[in-house]
Amino acid sequence: MRRKLAAGNWKMNGESTALGELEKLATAHSAPGVDILICPPATLLHRAAQTVSDSAIAIGGQDCHPAQSGAHTGDISADMLLDAGATAVIVGHSERRENHDEGDEHVRAKARAAIDAGLLAIICVGESLAEREAANTLDIIAGQLAGSIPDIVTGENLVIAYEPIWAIGTGKVPTLEQIGEVHDFIRARLERRFGTGVGRSVRLLYGGSVKPGNAADIFAVSNVDGALVGGASLKAGDFSPIIQAL
Ligand code: 13P
Repeated sequence: MRRKLAAGNWKMNGESTALGELEKLATAHSAPGVDILICPPATLLHRAAQTVSDSAIAIGGQDCHPAQSGAHTGDISADMLLDAGATAVIVGHSERRENHDEGDEHVRAKARAAIDAGLLAIICVGESLAEREAANTLDIIAGQLAGSIPDIVTGENLVIAYEPIWAIGTGKVPTLEQIGEVHDFIRARLERRFGTGVGRSVRLLYGGSVKPGNAADIFAVSNVDGALVGGASLKAGDFSPIIQAL
């Protein structure tokens, strides 16, 4: 049985005062039946990890560099995330793929570095609106999965987040049928490549305009094991009902 996961991606939001939201979350979910992960900006990672150290909430990074260390100004390695208290990292988010020209091979190298460091790698995939309208969604997802997932994964160190780019921050959400189609497809691809043992253990998250009002319906879709939430993860008052819906 896959354990459900509610993950929050704060993106480039949050300064010291945002730590108060973590305290509220920790108090509200002292014994959650699901995994809870918050990925704050790198500047808050260490303090965020300290803030939730006595709670069930885990802390993750939003990106990492493929190398362990070196001359990469402004970048952060997976080992550094671990050292700061993170247990997971998002790689291949569409905002990284688009804004920083990150291709599948680069994402794969980051995911490998994350797993080598002992972090849970959350690899994001998802189609653009043009790709969906051209009926290319499953081809795009297949290519991203094949190119972005390293061979070394197990059911425990990998999570896949399906985030249609057109649903991120827009208030638009695919139909439940569309979400189910893609999640079933991802599951089938994972089983085909890694075998049923690993393929059925990897958790699949949906991301893109998940809110308290639509979370329960989305979580009822087959092969949806949780959510990767952006805007609605910034305030405990919004994220808590999403966690509860799991
Ligand atoms: P929103 O929930 O704000 O649409 O963002 C989704 C996302 O990109 C999470 O990684």
